[in-house]
Order: sequence, then C-alpha cells, then structure tokens
Amino acid sequence: MYKEDTIAAVATPPGEGGIAIVRISGPDAEQIGGTIFCQNNGCNGRLKSHALYYGKIRDPRSDAVLDEVLLTVMRKPRSYTGETVVEVHCHGGVFLVREILRLILSQGARHAEPGEFTKRAFLNGRIDLTQAEAVLDLIQARTQEGISLAVKQVEGGISDWVHEMRNSLLDCIVQVEAAIDFPEEEIELLQRDELTQKISKFRDKIHVILVTYEWGRLHREGARVCICGRPNVGKSSLLNTLVGEERVIVTPVPGTTRDVVEESINLGGLPVVLWDTAGLRETEDQVERIGVDLSRRYIDKADLVILVMDGSDELTADDESLLREIDKKKMIVLNKDDLPRKLNRQALEPFQRAGIYSVSAKLGSGIEALKRGLRDMLLGVNAEAPIVITNLRHKSALIRCENALNNAQMSLCENQPAEFVAVDLNDAKEALEEIIGKVDNEDILERIFSQFCIGK
Ligand code: GDP
Repeated sequence: MYKEDTIAAVATPPGEGGIAIVRISGPDAEQIGGTIFCQNNGCNGRLKSHALYYGKIRDPRSDAVLDEVLLTVMRKPRSYTGETVVEVHCHGGVFLVREILRLILSQGARHAEPGEFTKRAFLNGRIDLTQAEAVLDLIQARTQEGISLAVKQVEGGISDWVHEMRNSLLDCIVQVEAAIDFPEEEIELLQRDELTQKISKFRDKIHVILVTYEWGRLHREGARVCICGRPNVGKSSLLNTLVGEERVIVTPVPGTTRDVVEESINLGGLPVVLWDTAGLRETEDQVERIGVDLSRRYIDKADLVILVMDGSDELTADDESLLREIDKKKMIVLNKDDLPRKLNRQALEPFQRAGIYSVSAKLGSGIEALKRGLRDMLLGVNAEAPIVITNLRHKSALIRCENALNNAQMSLCENQPAEFVAVDLNDAKEALEEIIGKVDNEDILERIFSQFCIGK
C-alpha cells in the first residue's frame, strides 16, 4: 500500500539542544547506519538490535568526522514503524543536525513527509487509526488531563470499545441476515421487538460517548472564555486576578483596553484561554467603536462569556442590553465586592441560570468559587462514560452510526423487509469500522497524517 523506500528525518524539535535525534526507517536503514557510523572501540560488526552504541558519524566520501553519537538499531518488526529503524542521537546543533541528515539522505534515504513514520506504523498494523491520532494529541497536549486522555487512546481505549460495540452489532446483523437467508422463518414480531430493544440500547451507548466529545474537545483544544462588560467594571483586573499576575494595565480611565488581551490558565486540568476585551458600550468614538466591534467578534467565538458588572454601581442601560444580547453560555460576575453594594440583585432574577458570582478582583475574594463554577459550567455534567472521544473524525463516524441505527429501528417499526434492516445495520457497522481505520480511503489517511510534524 506504500512505497517501501527508506525515509529519514530529524525527530526532535528544531533549534539548539543537548541532543537531537535523527531517525531512519525502511529496508536500507541498517545499511545506511553501517556506512556512516563507526564504533569508538574499532569493532564494526553487526550491531545488536535494541542496544545503544557509542561511536562517530563519518562521511565515507571524505572520511571527515561530523560528531560523536549514540546509535541504535531496532530491527523489524519490533520498532515504532514496524520496519527496521536506526536512530542517531547526536549533539543538538542546528547546523550539525542538518549535516548529519544531509549525509543520511546522500546515502539513499528520502526525507520523510509529516507524520510518515506514524503512517507507516499504521500501515504495518503496529497501531490503529485512533492510536495514530492519539500520538498527535499527545504531542499537542497542554495539560496533565489532556495527556492522560491521549495516553488512554494510545493504549487502545477507543479501539477496545469500538471492537466490543462492533461485535455486538455483528450479532444483530447475523440475526437479520439469517432471516434473509431463510425467508420462511422471517423475523417474527417477537424477534423484531427484541431486536428493536437491542438496537435502542446500542444507540444509547453510542450517545453517551458522543456527549463526551465536547468535554474532550475542550480538554484538547482548550476552552475559550471571553471576559466582557461595559468599561471600568474591572475586566482587566479580573483577568489579572484569574491569571495571578499583573499582565494587563489597569487604569481608572474608561476604555483603556482597545485590543483583545489573551492569557491562558489551567483550571484543574482544563486549559482555558481568557480574552479580555474592550469595554462594551454605545459610543460615538471611532477608535473605541473598533474595539467594541472586535469584542463582539470574540464573544461569538467563545465557548463561554463572563459578563462583568460593577456591583458597587447601579445597573446601567449598557449592562441590561448586554444581559439580553449575549445569548450563549454565560456567567455573571458582580465585581468590586469590597465596596458597598448598590446593584440590585433582583434585576438579575431572570438570569439566575447563568450563575451569578460576587467577587473582588482587587482583593481576590470569591475567585476560587468563580474558577470552580467556570470549570463546571464549561464541562457540564459528565455522564459516566467508558471512554472519552476528542476527535472530530470519531464524532462524525459515531453520528453516522447513530443515524444508521435510527433508520434500522424505523425499518423494524414499519415492518419493512429484513433486507432494509440489514442495510442500515451494515451502515452502522461500517461507520464504527472507519474509526479504527478499516478504511481504504487514501484521502482520509492523508488528512490525518499530514497534521503531524516531520519526524513523527
Ligand atoms: P475594565 O475597564 O473593565 O478592564 O476595568 P479595570 O480592570 O481597568 O478597572 C477599572 C477600575 O476599577 C480600576 O481603577 C481598578 O482598580 C478598579 N477595580 C477593579 N476591580 C476592583 C475591585 O474588585 N474593587 C475595587 N474597589 N476596585 C476595583
């Protein structure tokens, strides 16, 4: 399915470092390694697999020594790609690493494309698609929680679940196909009921997992939270207190934050990007107007909006219009709790669902409760799910599976012939199989692996 040539790339990030690793994979990997590497003890025999050897990288054409390195050979199939892999652990100088790679390429290897090592691991059956994707998630994870989700997936959590579901779906398909093959024993009504129930339970299980997507997506990509409100209510101060540092200039002049300031925090394992936006109010000032428009765009992009109000002030017309206008997941924060309260909470009665928090950004009071509330509101109630999905491709496949199951149920209810039910159930099965990579679609593979960095 792929060209069996030898590929090479630098596996470590660009830039200077203590060491860098150049990886070679394919049929000529060992021969190329043998040509450019000589052990320091002078022995040049066959190297043992999965052992580290100390020696030099030498250009065979000029005899020039490039670096002192550690080299390892991992003979197939016990390697990441399933092919013979040679890794050169050299010193991490930008120029040096490039020279070593150039030498390897001059010996007949081809420069690897992004994700090509992982793609080969998949094509050689070392890992399935969900595991390949999890490798990418692991590389990109930004919190401990993100890492642990990805590790579960690398270990095969999703594959195991999909295999289990696929097997129970196969049981249903066998039952229906038997009815097609032996038409005189057409699925009786009783059996139809039993089958409908089975499919319904099955669909519920799929649904529980689908719900986890949002949860997983937020952990992987980070939640986007927009702090907004009219000028001078304490948005920048709140951002500073949430971040724990004096990042944004806080001034008593209304309308100071014209651009959007971005900061990241870790909320109990959930990465959150906070946007502090320009104060929102009706304004004639052209420059301020630009800031206000920008704020609105950020509100649209956010997963949740924190609407800040000044609790030591009356509710203004600007506050009220914001309350009505922002119709997405939101929290209301009454700031300046250290000052006497003027704002009438009754006016906020209709917005109780949003969750109302009193804080003092200046003194830091109420901030921990706000953080807890923010996390809960972002993640919602998390049903007990055996696995969590974080990948849009998995989500789309599960939605297709769910739709196909709905169709199967409908066909059963409408007493359609068994053939109809079989087609729907097979569609559901194929959707499941797509998740673990029983796909021949080169486009899908290309799309997945091209997201990787070179050398992975
Ligand atoms: P923004 O325009 O909404 O970003 O508001 P800032 O964060 O710039 O704050 C505006 C003014 O309110 C500044 O003078 C802050 O020191 C003050 N301020 C902010 N938070 C508090 C608070 O919790 N208590 C008190 N007393 N003053 C605050």
